[in-house]
Amino acid sequence: MPRALVTGAAGFLGSHLCTHLLNEGWEVVGMDNFITGDRRNLTELEKDPGFSFVHHDVTQFISFPGELDGIFHFASPASPIDYLQIPIQTMKVGALGTHNCLGLALSKNARFILASTSECYGDPLVHPQPESYYGNVNPVGPRGCYDEAKRFAEALTMSYHRHHGVETRIVRIFNTYGPRMRLDDGRVLPAFIGQALRGQPLSVFGDGSQTRSFCYVDDLVNGIYQLFQSEEVFPTNIGNPREMSILEFAEKVQEAVGSSMPITHLPLPEDDPKVRQPDITKAKSLLAWTPKVELEEGIQKCLDYFKGRVAEERQ
Ligand code: NAD
Ligand code: UDP
Repeated sequence: MPRALVTGAAGFLGSHLCTHLLNEGWEVVGMDNFITGDRRNLTELEKDPGFSFVHHDVTQFISFPGELDGIFHFASPASPIDYLQIPIQTMKVGALGTHNCLGLALSKNARFILASTSECYGDPLVHPQPESYYGNVNPVGPRGCYDEAKRFAEALTMSYHRHHGVETRIVRIFNTYGPRMRLDDGRVLPAFIGQALRGQPLSVFGDGSQTRSFCYVDDLVNGIYQLFQSEEVFPTNIGNPREMSILEFAEKVQEAVGSSMPITHLPLPEDDPKVRQPDITKAKSLLAWTPKVELEEGIQKCLDYFKGRVAEERQ
């Protein structure tokens, strides 16, 4: 049975990835320090005898007994409000955490995959964004701590590949949503669904003309696993190319939840990308992968989860 380490296992994507790996017949060791994670995301996983958990901060040396075939490095704050609150930890997990995971991959002869991000493209001047675009990142703006940490992590990953011959993969993840997101993580989908369910106005930042493209978590995890198994070393975009303005997205959430609350406009955060849409030509041809879940269906699939979280708030 192959054995994987998943860092960030108590987070949104890390926990779904653990479930996927267990279903694919892997033994999985999850690792997390809970800085932005949620212990409840481990509840189902811990019922599986193939899963075990280690509480550890990956910016510290990782001592790992036994063999290891794969390292899925997903630990990192990922929501703008999280990484604005903890910018140093964000830079450390992208830099030192990635270094420790790559060192572990080298010592165990394990394949390594980095959870990178569309933020590598910054506020893009090329639209949609292909992997060949180098991006338009402000290194000294508020998002620089996240964007540059991930860009450094990509460069470090390629260096370990070129210099040490470590088998590495890099996935550039675009906005993804689904159950197990924290209701209060500030990302737009939990923010809007939470507001709609509580009967509050939806907080659209700026005029809402900025665009995003939302991928359902099951589609994303399938694509990541396929990329991990492929031979592709260079970064690969995984995301859903259906793009819409944040104002249209707010209307979709209102419709799905049946909310008649108005939309309220708040100031647009500094350096908020004006457009974002993955060019997934590469993933389509390389992996024969395309996302399957439409936004309307995806919102319905996670509505019960968010209703449960809102009900807990009221208790
Ligand atoms: P998340 O905040 O839900 O999960 C991240 C997890 O990493 C948390 O459980 C957190 O406690 C853990 N963590 C952070 N620093 C750590 C450290 N030093 N040691 C151990 N654990 C640590 O975020 P997510 O949405 O699940 O994102 C997971 C990964 O995917 C991140 O690397 C993120 O940059 C990347 N990503 C996510 C998206 C998205 O739309 N969700 C988009 C692009 C990239
Ligand atoms: N956004 C918004 N209201 C919110 C939260 C976010 O209008 O309550 C906007 C935000 O300004 C951005 C988009 O929604 O343009 C996506 O934000 P998110 O934090 O989910 O992720 P990002 O893609 O910016 O990393």
